[in-house]
Amino acid sequence: MKKIGVLTSGGDAPGMNAAVRAVVRKAIHDGLEIAGIFNGYQGLIEGKIEQLQLGSVGDIIQRGGTMLRSARSSEFMTEEGRKKAVEQMKRHRIDGLVVIGGDGSFRGAFELVKMGIPCVCVPATIDNDINGTQFTIGFDSALNTVIDAIDKIRDTATSHERTFIIEVMGRDAGDLALWAGLAGGAETILIPEEGYNMDEIISRLKSGTGRGKKHSIIIVAEGVMSGSALSDLLKEKAEIETRVSVLGHIQRGGSPSARDRVIASQYGARAVEVLNEGRGGVAIGMQNNVVVDYELEVVFEPSDHSLDMELYKLSKELSI
Ligand code: ADP
Repeated sequence: MKKIGVLTSGGDAPGMNAAVRAVVRKAIHDGLEIAGIFNGYQGLIEGKIEQLQLGSVGDIIQRGGTMLRSARSSEFMTEEGRKKAVEQMKRHRIDGLVVIGGDGSFRGAFELVKMGIPCVCVPATIDNDINGTQFTIGFDSALNTVIDAIDKIRDTATSHERTFIIEVMGRDAGDLALWAGLAGGAETILIPEEGYNMDEIISRLKSGTGRGKKHSIIIVAEGVMSGSALSDLLKEKAEIETRVSVLGHIQRGGSPSARDRVIASQYGARAVEVLNEGRGGVAIGMQNNVVVDYELEVVFEPSDHSLDMELYKLSKELSI
């Protein structure tokens, strides 16, 4: 391994920059050359590639988004597109690749591995939904953004004695809703893994009101249903009036949390070590506070990523 490349791909997440910085600095520290590939796999196909230096990644650890920019590439989904990508890597003498992104990006990397390119994948997505790791880069920052919003909404919910529904991201994974709901003291948390029971939601709200509770916060992950659909159902079935707040893309932005900067630095550095050992087809992650590397195939196994059900149980016990 003489020269490696790094790209960010798919949905962006706070902390991607900190990961890029770690990859670049660790590579140079360990005597490797490092190429930055702009605009994800599409940029790889088009040869948007620049040699990076120590200074190229100065002043980015605290920034949201990604200096390498991200993209979704339909061309890369085709064999022809991937062949062009591999040709570009040969032209630029890039021996291995660090891919920072979500599971879609990992699937792309796996295709490159099959074509003989060593790739190491660093999980970065606010959804925290990647098999084999307990934490992805961006999750903690998004969580803090959601909690900040919940706290603010709670102020107005209390003043006006209202029930608020807050819709958060998470199409298939309820981690963000669960952790934010627990940390934000939400009365009800709806996650895709568990679905929902309207009667139970209504009876929880009514028993709260019965005890003199004047306001309530419901967190719903977008994968369950939209906040407005839930609001309509509550109105229709129980005459319960609610206000809806959809947090949307603000959850993806902002300065990364300290925790995300630290894990991004750890993951990025480990990815370079693994590549430098000549290993490809590997993902980096965290298990019980230890940075681990594991076979990329694990990411694609059905339903290995499991939500912390103990945490879900606790959130129910504490929000009675
Ligand atoms: P994320 O990495 O956030 O999950 P996407 O699912 O959009 O984001 O994937 C990012 C990019 O990875 C896609 O635009 C595509 O170029 C590439 N990709 C995703 N799945 C595959 C696949 N099965 N084969 C090849 N490339 C893929």
